[in-house]
Amino acid sequence: HGKRQKRGNSTLFTARHVAEIHRDARIEQTLKQADLMAELSVVFQPIIDVSLNKTTGFEALARWNSSVLGHMSPAQFIPIAERAGIIGSLTKPLLKKALEAARKWPDAVRLSFNLSAQDLSSPEAVMTIIAIIETSGFDASRLDLEITETAFIHDTRQARQSVDLLKQIGCGISLDDFGTGYSSLTSLHSLPLTKIKIDHSFVRGIQNNPASEKIVRSVLTLSREMGLDAIVEGVETEEEMAFITHLGGNLVQGYLFSRPMKESAISDFLASETEIQPSYHRTA
Ligand code: C2E
Ligand code: MG
Ligand code: MG
Ligand code: MG
Repeated sequence: HGKRQKRGNSTLFTARHVAEIHRDARIEQTLKQADLMAELSVVFQPIIDVSLNKTTGFEALARWNSSVLGHMSPAQFIPIAERAGIIGSLTKPLLKKALEAARKWPDAVRLSFNLSAQDLSSPEAVMTIIAIIETSGFDASRLDLEITETAFIHDTRQARQSVDLLKQIGCGISLDDFGTGYSSLTSLHSLPLTKIKIDHSFVRGIQNNPASEKIVRSVLTLSREMGLDAIVEGVETEEEMAFITHLGGNLVQGYLFSRPMKESAISDFLASETEIQPSYHRTA
C-alpha cells in the first residue's frame, strides 16, 4: 500500500508537470507573437524614506495584458522570457515606457528598473540599454538599475563589464532580492553597488522570527558600514514596520505604504504626501 501511494503521487506530479510545460510553452509562443509595445505596461511602487515620510523614488514593475491570455503576472512571464532568450525584447519597451513616465516627475524622485541577466550578458544588449537611457531625456544619475546575483552566475566577466558601463554613465546599481542568491557576500564586495534590497522573505512576520531579525539587523549594519543604502522590500504590516524601524531601517517598500500604481496616480500620491508631511510622524 505504501508503494502504491508513492506511485500515485509521482503520477500526479508528472501530470501537473506536463500541464505546466504546456502552459509555459503557450505563454512563450504568445510572447513571441505579441505586439509588446502595445501589450506591456509599467506600474510604479513607491520607495519611501520613513524617517522623512517622503517618497525617494518608484520601482517600475512590468505588467502584460495579453490579447490572447489576458493579464499575466511578471513572476510568471519574466522567467519564461528569460528561459526563451527573448527578455531583451521585453526590456526595451518596458524601459522606454518607464523612462517616459519618470521624465515628468520632480527632480528629487528616482526611478528603479529591473534588469535580467541577459540584459547584461553581451556588449550589444547593454549598449541597447545605454542608448535607450541616453535618448530618453531622463538623467541617468536618477536611475537605479536592479540586478540579482543570478546575473553573475554564468558569465561573471561580461556581466561585470556591463555593470561597470552602466555605472559609468551615472546609473545607480541595486542588488535585488538580497539574501536569496548564491554568493551574497562575494557580490557585496566585488560589485560597484549603490543599494541593497533586502528580500521580502526576511520581512514577513519578522517581529516573531528571531532568525529573520538577526539577518535583517546584520544586513542593515553591513550596508551602513559599506556606505550602501538598504531598502527593505515587501513591508505589509504596521508590526513589521515598527520592528524594521527598531532595527534602524528607514528605506522601505511594500503594500503597507502602497501597491504598485499606474503612472496617472503618481502626481496625486506625491501631492498628498506633501500635504500630510508636517503633521505626520510615524512612530516605532
Ligand atoms: P522584484 O523586483 O523583487 O519586485 C518586487 C515584487 O514584490 C513586485 O512583484 C511587487 O509588486 C511585490 N511587492 C511589493 N510590495 C509587496 C508586499 O508588501 N508584499 C508582497 N507580497 N509583495 C510585494 P511583481 O510586480 O509581481 O514582480 C515580480 C518580479 O518580476 C519582480 O520582483 C522582478 O523580479 C520581476 N520583474 C517585474 N518587472 C520587471 C521588469 O520590468 N523587468 C524584469 N527583468 N523583471 C521584472
Ligand atoms: Mg526589483
Ligand atoms: Mg526584490
Ligand atoms: Mg525579484
